[in-house]
Amino acid sequence: MSIRWRLTLFHALTMFVVVAVLTAVLIGVIFIVMHLLVEQPARDSANDTAAFIEAGSELDARELERLSEGGIFLIVRDARGRIVTQSDDVPDTIPTRDQSVWQPALETGFPQEGEADGHFIYVVPVIRPDEPLLLVETGKAYTIIDQGGLRLRIAPPGLAGIAAGAALVSILPAILASYLAARRAFTPVNAIVSSVQQISEEDLSQRLPVRSRRDELGRLALTFNDLIARLEVAFAEREQTLAGQRRFVADAGHELRTPLSSILGYTRLLRDWGLQDAEVAEESLAAIEREAARMSELVEEMLDLARGDEGLPLELEPGDVGELVAAAVEATRIAATGNIEISYEPPDAPVVADVDPDRVRQATGILLDNAVKYTPAGGTVTARLRAGEDWIAIAVADTGIGIDAQHLPHIFDRFYRVDSARSHSGSGLGLSIAQQIAEQHGGTISVTSRLGQGSTFTLRLPRSVPVATA
Ligand code: ADP
Repeated sequence: MSIRWRLTLFHALTMFVVVAVLTAVLIGVIFIVMHLLVEQPARDSANDTAAFIEAGSELDARELERLSEGGIFLIVRDARGRIVTQSDDVPDTIPTRDQSVWQPALETGFPQEGEADGHFIYVVPVIRPDEPLLLVETGKAYTIIDQGGLRLRIAPPGLAGIAAGAALVSILPAILASYLAARRAFTPVNAIVSSVQQISEEDLSQRLPVRSRRDELGRLALTFNDLIARLEVAFAEREQTLAGQRRFVADAGHELRTPLSSILGYTRLLRDWGLQDAEVAEESLAAIEREAARMSELVEEMLDLARGDEGLPLELEPGDVGELVAAAVEATRIAATGNIEISYEPPDAPVVADVDPDRVRQATGILLDNAVKYTPAGGTVTARLRAGEDWIAIAVADTGIGIDAQHLPHIFDRFYRVDSARSHSGSGLGLSIAQQIAEQHGGTISVTSRLGQGSTFTLRLPRSVPVATA
């Protein structure tokens, strides 16, 4: 059942109960009034008359008239029920014939009361020594309005009927009014429902209309809008991630294609000429090996990035970062072939930090290798380690070719190379990996560079990695 109908029924039922209770109260009040206006005067009149007779006074017409004032009729019967005397205004039909009250009074000798044809009837036996038994019977009509065709009785059965009827009749308008009110109240809800239905995954820019910020529905619409806004952001982020992944796959395919076609070319050369010409065979095999090594390096780098993207946890351990940097410098020095001076400026005091040593060494190695790669013979490469209270910074400065300002914002992008012809040996993934390592540690990587003068890359890491990024 819809809330609208449930509310309607609830209202109608409440209304019904209220009307029923009010009517019951009204009936109660009418009963009291009835008692005061109808029944009590009749009883008083009968008792007064009985006392009058018992006192031995003469019950003449004047006394009868006095005792039956106020719409009361008065009858005095003998022990067989026959009328001895009566007041003027006795209705000629019912009371004279009705035995239902005086008969029991006669039999029991006690006062009795009852109802006959819309009249309250009260009978008191008058018992005197040495005198025949008499019955004083009084009656008064329950009618409170008796005019023209309209006659309103306040007799109990009629009243109960009116009350029940009133309650039943009131329930229909109550249902209708409640239904209309509920429908009106739910109109904005329906508006919200149809607006929400129109909002699709493709178009999350839509918002629900907010009529008032103060009522419940206004707040509901605001909450929805808030939710949609968050969804919009989440979808945009997801779209961005997906686009990034698509680009990565396309770039990776592109990068792998070059060494692969080289390998295929040299294999064909080897098959066609290799057997006759030892020099061609030698050259082809060397080229195949070189290209395969390049592919292997590329695949290794891609796997590194993928592992980082997956969010594999770092293996953090407190250690002397100075030793790490010194080891990376040493490794680069051994691998470097050109005439480049590679030096390390250690900090004044040992720097201990919570880092993943393998990854930090890898990032430092990437920066050092790049510095060597992009610095012509005769240049210098300097690694420095500095530390603050909660951070450490590894800087690698070179006196190399530098990077043009227009490329600076992109050099950390995956597969981005400033000049692909010149840096043929690079994949464009090194700085992306270094940046990923920095971010995994909750740190940053930055660069300052001047074309033709050199570059400085700085890896800045917190001394202890915040839990969320670890
Ligand atoms: P690559 O494998 O090509 O070196 P990286 O991601 O490590 O890829 O670097 C991206 C690009 O940034 C390089 O192609 C190069 O043009 C530029 N670059 C990186 N380091 C330096 C540096 N020390 N001096 C000049 N250019 C650099």
